[in-house]
Amino acid sequence: MKLAVRSLLAAALISASASAALAQTPATPPAASAPRPPLVVKPVKPGLFMIVGAGGNTTVRVTDDGIVLVDSKNPGQPIYDEIVADVHTISPKPIKYLVDTHIHADHTGNNGRFEAAGVKVVGQQNIPTELAKFVPPANNPTLQAPAAPNVTYDKTYEIKLGGKTVKLNHFANGHTNGDTVVYFPGLKVVSMGDELVAVTPNCDYGGGGSITGWLSSLDQTLKLDWDMAIPGHGDNPLTKADMKAFRDKWATFLDRAKAAVKAGATKDRLVAAIKTDDLWTFNPNAWTGARLDGLYAEAGGK
Ligand SMILES: [Zn+2]
Repeated sequence: MKLAVRSLLAAALISASASAALAQTPATPPAASAPRPPLVVKPVKPGLFMIVGAGGNTTVRVTDDGIVLVDSKNPGQPIYDEIVADVHTISPKPIKYLVDTHIHADHTGNNGRFEAAGVKVVGQQNIPTELAKFVPPANNPTLQAPAAPNVTYDKTYEIKLGGKTVKLNHFANGHTNGDTVVYFPGLKVVSMGDELVAVTPNCDYGGGGSITGWLSSLDQTLKLDWDMAIPGHGDNPLTKADMKAFRDKWATFLDRAKAAVKAGATKDRLVAAIKTDDLWTFNPNAWTGARLDGLYAEAGGK
């Protein structure tokens, strides 16, 4: 199975009980019978809002010439319509840009609808490459890959709109190989996608992720001048101290994995050999396939 295929498949395979711990993995839309709570708009700073619910968080940056969004939640016309309606309660200006923080469908689900509405969708250049490998899972054969961004970049990209600047950075392959850290220098805010979450993090090794790269990306982000971070999942903005603590927990996790391999842990015993109760609650069933292969390799396993 190819890389992104596995990552995109994960959603369909994760049970309802496991999905809470892995909320930042790609998600399929909720079943029609499950009532979805309305999205919640939260002011973060003057001119910047977050919209919580139905997948990853959406960031809304308002300028005099239009709106820049970051991430578009789970796929679905009702979710798209609600995002647009919520944005228009904030500002009557048109949505001009949508940034993808990474490939997962709970962040890119409505790319195609925004593109059809004339929005420029910007993402790191590995996203279309990975999307091209998509095949629907056997248990959800009608599932479609999100539309690819219609503007791509390699390392950095700058959006200038209404006198405001939004800086996109692909610092390293972290949560996936197509991560973007979005920096709003005028407001001292960063929007992190799943490189920063208020739930158990998940490194998508099948999608080219790496904890080592992830730590590098967070370290480079921590050097920027900001004081509020929008997490990919979690109901509220986080601080620089929160990000530093998150980074240190991931570093501890990787150090312990390396120590376990050095002490002789085999691949199938690796996750059980890592102490995690002071870090996050990991679902052991989540560590299979490419995810386990990737962790074992990154920890020095051969
Ligand atoms: Zn994700």
